[in-house]
Amino acid sequence: MRLPKMNDALGTVNRGDAAESGLCTLCQADCRGKCETWLSSLKGRKLLYPRDFGTITSGSANTTHVGVSYNSIRIDGYNYGAQGLPQGLSTSEDDCIFPNVSLEGEFGTKMKTKFRVPVMTGALGSTFIAAKYWESFAIGAALVGYPIVVGENVVGVDRKSEMDGGKISKAPELDRRIETFLRYYDGYGAIIVQLNVEDTRNGVAEYVIDKYGDKVIIELKWGQGAKDIGGEIQVTDLEYALFLKKRGYVVDPDPTLPEVQEAFKHKAIKAFARHSRLGYTGLSSTDQVRKGFMDSVEYLRKLGYKRISLKTGAYGMEALAMAIKYASEAELDLLTIDGSGGGTGMSPWNMMETWGVPSVMLHNKAYEYADRLAKKGTKVVDMAFAGGLAREDHIFKAIALGAPYTKLVCMGRALMIPAFLGSNIEGVLKPEAREKVNGNWDKLPATVTSFGTFPEEIFAGYYDVQKKVGKDEMKNIPFGAIAAWTLADKLAAGVQQLMAGARKFSLSEISRDDIYAANRETEQESGLTYITDKNDDRAKKILDA
Ligand code: SF4
Repeated sequence: MRLPKMNDALGTVNRGDAAESGLCTLCQADCRGKCETWLSSLKGRKLLYPRDFGTITSGSANTTHVGVSYNSIRIDGYNYGAQGLPQGLSTSEDDCIFPNVSLEGEFGTKMKTKFRVPVMTGALGSTFIAAKYWESFAIGAALVGYPIVVGENVVGVDRKSEMDGGKISKAPELDRRIETFLRYYDGYGAIIVQLNVEDTRNGVAEYVIDKYGDKVIIELKWGQGAKDIGGEIQVTDLEYALFLKKRGYVVDPDPTLPEVQEAFKHKAIKAFARHSRLGYTGLSSTDQVRKGFMDSVEYLRKLGYKRISLKTGAYGMEALAMAIKYASEAELDLLTIDGSGGGTGMSPWNMMETWGVPSVMLHNKAYEYADRLAKKGTKVVDMAFAGGLAREDHIFKAIALGAPYTKLVCMGRALMIPAFLGSNIEGVLKPEAREKVNGNWDKLPATVTSFGTFPEEIFAGYYDVQKKVGKDEMKNIPFGAIAAWTLADKLAAGVQQLMAGARKFSLSEISRDDIYAANRETEQESGLTYITDKNDDRAKKILDA
């Protein structure tokens, strides 16, 4: 399902083709604007409303009634009642206002992890764009208070990391990633470190627990939505390709072959792709997978990890059932289920377009399976849904679709945009810092100067961040983190408004009853009630009374 590139009401335009998420299929770090997420990173909650108030009226374009996707689910609203009011609030109309909706929550089994807004980042791993903008990603996450995930292979590709007897002894890039987040961590959010096959071999789990103890959540990785092979990056340097090959990675084409080196020298080959390995290749039954998984969890617990999570991808129903059942039995703290329709730093394009179960279908089945386990008395693992989710309505819908098991919505590309944008602005306003922050611009484009030329004017969230960290500390806060705060402000206010309209004042009150299918196909696929069928019996009772 394609969305229009332009939204006249919000004054937003996609630079490229719009995906299901509303982001461009190709999002560029140097983009001068201005999709909804880009603009929200500057203007925050103002982007909830059509532009030019006072001189316009505006009406819905309503594209929600075709196809099966998150965009063909609609959110209910009610004309009376209020549920889940935070402590101290009454049902009076003065208390039941949208800013009083609580977005705080927690996930986990024994050691709970709190968050202020129900979002988390996707896995930001060894792809260079994650390293380049890490300061903004991590400080933004810590200031707002949502979890951030260090993806796979960060240690393995770090040329400065050192191995001792095949195990990591020094990992400066991983240290930087963890420590940047912890510098501003205030009890909300979390730093999660992923483990794939190579990370496990390299001893990343042992290194992290020795150095950081239970400050870190460790994540086992089964897969992701964008591809069903392991993580990939592209390198354009022969020496680096050889280094990665020596580190044990699959590098394609093989840089050790003389003909490949010759081709590279003469520019016939300009880049190498570094791949990770598939997991569980020696196993042939679900019982064996269960055992392999339980052994890994037990090993991590013995190392001392108090919080363990699992990330699975857009595999079919058997793998989904295994993920939910085994993660629940192992009493994991979080299971992230990443459907097709999301994005990545690098995936084979046609694989991303054609493999796997689309998010809305996968997430709906996740609910069904979780509920099946719960009805048998199993305490179901807390879940996060991912895959092409970017807006506040996506957050509400995903939490409702998986309620009461879904606690968080995992956003990959959307939460990266403010970091790019803020860094580009910082690079112009502080030319001496351009290289450090990876700014891509020489001057501010009109899409930014229309709001001002100072950061205090450009970022709607500037003074909120200043209030939180203090005026003196502002010099250490990257503009990308201020932009992340500003985007989170818009998303949070948007979710609060949708929740208030649904008369739900805390996250735990959101239920599947708060959403409905906008077309019959979605009804059939999701089991959600079709819009006009919902409460039709109650309506008729009123009419006939
Ligand atoms: S920020 Fe990314 S998604 Fe948004 S318009 Fe620019 S390229 Fe497209």
